[in-house]
Amino acid sequence: MKKLSVPAVGIDLGTTFSVVAKLDDEGRPQTLINAEGERLTPSVVLFDQDAVVVGREALKALAIEAENCAECSKRDVGHRVFHKVLEGKQYPPEVIEALILNKLRIDAATQVGPFSKAVVTVPAYFDEVRRKATQDAGYMAGLEVMDIINEPTAAAVAFGFQQGYLNREGSSIEPQHVLVYDLGGGTFDLTCMEIRGTEFIALATDGDVRLGGYDWDQRLVDLVAEQFIRKHGADPREDPRSSGKLWRECEDAKRTLSTRPKATVICEHRGLIAHVEVTREQFEESTQDLLDRTRFTTVQTLKAAGLQWSEIDRVLLVGGSTRMPMVRKMLEELTGKPPDASVAADEAVAHGAALHAGLLLAKEQGLPRLFRIRNVNSHSLGVVGIDPLTKRRRNGILIPRNTRLPVTAKRTFKTSKANQRSVLVQIVEGESPSADECTPIGRCSLPKLPSGLSAQTPVDVWFHYKPNGRLKVRVLVPGTDRKVETEIVRENSLPKEHLDGWRQYISGVPPTEYR
Ligand code: ADP
Ligand code: MG
Repeated sequence: MKKLSVPAVGIDLGTTFSVVAKLDDEGRPQTLINAEGERLTPSVVLFDQDAVVVGREALKALAIEAENCAECSKRDVGHRVFHKVLEGKQYPPEVIEALILNKLRIDAATQVGPFSKAVVTVPAYFDEVRRKATQDAGYMAGLEVMDIINEPTAAAVAFGFQQGYLNREGSSIEPQHVLVYDLGGGTFDLTCMEIRGTEFIALATDGDVRLGGYDWDQRLVDLVAEQFIRKHGADPREDPRSSGKLWRECEDAKRTLSTRPKATVICEHRGLIAHVEVTREQFEESTQDLLDRTRFTTVQTLKAAGLQWSEIDRVLLVGGSTRMPMVRKMLEELTGKPPDASVAADEAVAHGAALHAGLLLAKEQGLPRLFRIRNVNSHSLGVVGIDPLTKRRRNGILIPRNTRLPVTAKRTFKTSKANQRSVLVQIVEGESPSADECTPIGRCSLPKLPSGLSAQTPVDVWFHYKPNGRLKVRVLVPGTDRKVETEIVRENSLPKEHLDGWRQYISGVPPTEYR
């Protein structure tokens, strides 16, 4: 591979852990270590008066001063504010994500030199609003986000690299079908990919942005708390400190249960103590419904991809939670073959992102591209229309989910009144026919229509959906010169001046305070 003039950096911004990787001189992905010397950085931020601490120390603080810590901010991305008030302030979740990215950037720069260009990963199941928020987080962290890439796709690319598919000589000759099952800390993501030569084609994708190892922890916390109540008559979950400590203990015990048949959790509350033994069997029983949800989604996704289990060549395990034996057992039963744990569960996503960054940089510099990614959209996109009979707000779908991207779609709507002078287009994402059950993404308006248009004048709405799942909209009234091509005015999104304000604030936080 010809050498790139800037480093190719990929960032897996995870719900619980984040990972940064770069391409080495031979074009091989390599995980970078953080300032603490670790490959995984806990995605936790501690607000400690004026200092901001990100990573391991913040994770430790979570057990004793949870009220000052922001954890799992990725789960809140897309909402206006983070679910917890921190030192009297309400932060947008993407600002917390930006603080994490900033530490990752600073730490990585010690190894690759100062850089700003990077690829950041998102769960395939992230909707448009969350994708935009992630790009904004990158911007506030002083990064130039060249692209966002879906996590399962990145994992598949890392896998392909490892198998030697990215060289033309070694490229897979027979198309391979790979199911990427990614169960992390806070999200579950599933994608069915076809690897055809050096092309990575997503066939179908699904998942749950609120399902992950965290939910397994919660069950264990409840299990132990109930034992504690039985013994001492008090609930450790009521006190933030006892509960914070219990969470850490349980997360640890959960890991133990991945390798051993039982684990002991020490629970302390109000000076009382209990040693609670949990067996793997008990743990698996109490979390069976969570696993079943992933199983159900897996079956659905295969169907959406139009494939049979016999056509799946590999099931790729990604995400720390796939280390739980119950996950592997379930997948083996379902697919009839042992799942493939050949990629590093925690690092594959960052590696794939670095490979994608390398690809984009090579393209910029006029070097040949090694592989190609084809994506699908994970949610249907539509426009709110009013049903003339029922007057209900309907979701007029333009781009059904799992459509190959990029795609351009047009749909014609009609004005409702005579002499209507403006049109408002509201864009929603979701599968329900009722617009109120979908996620509003934003709106754009077409003002100053010529006067005298009759009712039922057609209005064309064009959507251009880009391969990274971001959207462009164009609205026009045929036969008039009125058209707008707009960046959508977004719901729950920070305006540019706020982004710049935060970017400045974050760049001013001295790097040592991130340690
Ligand atoms: P994310 O990308 O969502 O941040 P990761 O892929 O890093 O998540 O996975 C983190 C999750 O994996 C956490 O919930 C953690 O408890 C869990 N995990 C890590 N190792 C193990 C293990 N050995 N057994 C069970 N769960 C594990
Ligand atoms: Mg992950």
